[in-house]
Amino acid sequence: MLKIPLSHPYLTSLEKKLVLQVLDGAQLSLGPCLEEFEHRLAEYVGSKYAVAVNSGTSALHLCIRSLNIREGDEVITTPFSFIASANCILYEKARPVFVDIDPETFNIDPAKIEEKINSKTRAILPVHVFGLPCDMARIQLIAGQHNLFVIEDACEALGAKCLLRDPAKIPPLHYHKVGAIGNCGAFGFYPNKQMTTGEGGAVVTDDKRIAASCRSLRNQGRSENSAWLEHIQLGYNYRLSDINCAIGIAQLQKLPTILTLREKVAHCYNQRLALLDEIIAPFQSFSCRRSWFVYVCRLSDDFNANDRNHILQQLRACGIACRDYFPPIHLQPFYVRMFGYKKGDFPIAKHVAERTIALPFFTSMTEEQVDYVCYKLRRIVQKYKSERVTSKARRNGQKLHHPSYIE
Ligand SMILES: *Cc1c(COP(=O)(O)O)cnc(C)c1O
Repeated sequence: MLKIPLSHPYLTSLEKKLVLQVLDGAQLSLGPCLEEFEHRLAEYVGSKYAVAVNSGTSALHLCIRSLNIREGDEVITTPFSFIASANCILYEKARPVFVDIDPETFNIDPAKIEEKINSKTRAILPVHVFGLPCDMARIQLIAGQHNLFVIEDACEALGAKCLLRDPAKIPPLHYHKVGAIGNCGAFGFYPNKQMTTGEGGAVVTDDKRIAASCRSLRNQGRSENSAWLEHIQLGYNYRLSDINCAIGIAQLQKLPTILTLREKVAHCYNQRLALLDEIIAPFQSFSCRRSWFVYVCRLSDDFNANDRNHILQQLRACGIACRDYFPPIHLQPFYVRMFGYKKGDFPIAKHVAERTIALPFFTSMTEEQVDYVCYKLRRIVQKYKSERVTSKARRNGQKLHHPSYIE
């Protein structure tokens, strides 16, 4: 049986070469690769500064700390995301305030943000879910009107860009890479992301003070020029080693190729799934470029969470890895305990989350692999549907002679 993983890193001999160079040298941390990686990353996203850290979660935490967001403050964000985008707010005892999502893009719905703003609100933390940019023009506008910070969780969206209007320039419309649009942005380099450093992350910003604060906080609260054992504030060890940075330098070099290859795989899926009435393919935008992180399609409204979970099980039985990205954050057990959220609280996030299927998706995925996944998905979904129709008809006392969906 074919076995197809959910994700797979795209590594070549260049990563090995650069890692071996670090091992041959003497500086395994805070060395030249860290500086070079940060420099290249900032250049790639179009920000003035990049500060590399040991995970995307650490990057988000340092954004919150650097903006001095603390107990009593509120940060507006989405419930449809990986848990880290809300946890980073809890780390500083501030409160995540969720806003429901757009049913098509799966990103935070900007039309619902303003009703959640009050005197405690300090920031908006949009997440570019599955690599699709949020409506940053509207989010920046709202933040400006209410004097709020914008922290972009761009951990799933390295290389994604949106068309934004800049009246000072001619022509006024320009592409801006996500992460570099708000006050600061976070990236993650876990092995399932578009590019990896093994573990890793980074903060990008144009603000010199945020960059300096992140550099100090990741390195035990040292200051740029203080003695090694002098600590000017409470910091952390969030450093990223030069070994990881070497992998990052190689990956960044290949990133344009990686993103193009991923776009091709996604296109392959889109073409095949367009023929399936039961499946809604990922949203296609004309005003931005998605950076493909995962390929998440969703079942049509005739299906429920139970159906979806059965379909996931059957895909797995065919050797196809798949996942229910994302169970909403507000329904995670400890959020329910802490805040008393209920199922009806963010109905669109819940409705979408009950029907999504993340299919295998990686840079080196072949057309044959996509074909196999789509072939199996089609058979499973259609048999499941006809079986349901049959059992409903049976309950209604009708006689039908459909084959069972279990082969
Ligand atoms: C991957 C990811 C992160 C960061 O994850 P780490 O494992 O800490 O690198 C943060 N937010 C979102 C939305 C993510 O997908």
